[in-house]
Amino acid sequence: MTKEKLYGKTLNELISVSKHLGLPAFTARQIADWLYKKEISSIDEMTNLSKKARELMAAEYEFGLTAPESAAESSDGTKKYLYKVLNNRYIETAYIPDNERATICVSSQSGCRMGCIFCMTGKQGFQGNLSANEILNQFRSLPEFSSLTNMVYMGMGEPLDNTAEVLKSLEILTSTWGYGWSPTRITVSTVGLLSPVREFLEKSRCHLAVSLHSPFDEERRQLMPVQKTNTIAEVLDIIRNFDFNSQRRVSFEYILFEGLNDTPRHIKELARILNGIKCRINIIRFHKIPGSEFSSPDDAATLKFKEALNAKGILTTIRASRGVDIQAACGLLSTLNQNRQNS
Ligand code: SF4
Repeated sequence: MTKEKLYGKTLNELISVSKHLGLPAFTARQIADWLYKKEISSIDEMTNLSKKARELMAAEYEFGLTAPESAAESSDGTKKYLYKVLNNRYIETAYIPDNERATICVSSQSGCRMGCIFCMTGKQGFQGNLSANEILNQFRSLPEFSSLTNMVYMGMGEPLDNTAEVLKSLEILTSTWGYGWSPTRITVSTVGLLSPVREFLEKSRCHLAVSLHSPFDEERRQLMPVQKTNTIAEVLDIIRNFDFNSQRRVSFEYILFEGLNDTPRHIKELARILNGIKCRINIIRFHKIPGSEFSSPDDAATLKFKEALNAKGILTTIRASRGVDIQAACGLLSTLNQNRQNS
């Protein structure tokens, strides 16, 4: 019999578990403490619960942690881990140390149905949503777990195509009964699905990052099919009309493709559409994937693009490329691994 996993359950869900097992209501908080505040990995180690309670629980539930199956380490210190999830598929998790910061980049789905043409995960198609357990397991089972300072939902999948489980994982990360992290340490990145963006803004206080990649409708549609039904203009309207507190950040991700979205015309249009929104643009270099014609401009041209945006009053940064020697493009490592398994 497959047992249900406790790890990844919210306090309310743990209250239901306690009720179901006939245990006192306060047991739920004790279980949450063991799950999220102590570094144990089995029900048997929950020593302030009676032996009887632990036995009852272990008959139906398991703790629910799964170690990564393999790791690749870059010469710059970045590591990519592969975790096995639904139907024997693999998802990627990146660990990115940077001086005082140590960021984990988690996946939220196995594959993705958004079909962005520059993305290897998009080429895998969609295999399924990850549960809150599978999202948070990437964090808790990371060998560098105790050094982590930040978390980004920028791995495989579209987080807001799996809003319920992503919101559950954010609740566990930021609640006092959970990990108690400040929401300002967490960023969720999305292509901009309209209702889920609204829901995310209302139900969480974490930072929002929107994949923009072109300010022009037709061009964005070519790169990101989502633009057909969820236009960037509509996403910007939601952002403009939302009351952000001073701590909460909105950023726009912009992969710079040489000769495609890197012209003065793009700079002018970006300044126009982002007018009145307090935000920043993160320029990202394109990481090559097989069969793609795209490439990024050289460093000098990238810097020029950034400075031109800064001159227009948009705070713009260039994201350092990390892990280029370990298949940096999202979805590439898991695809190679899957192909190996299938051959
Ligand atoms: S870029 Fe993100 S949303 Fe687009 S296909 Fe890849 S994983 Fe999905």
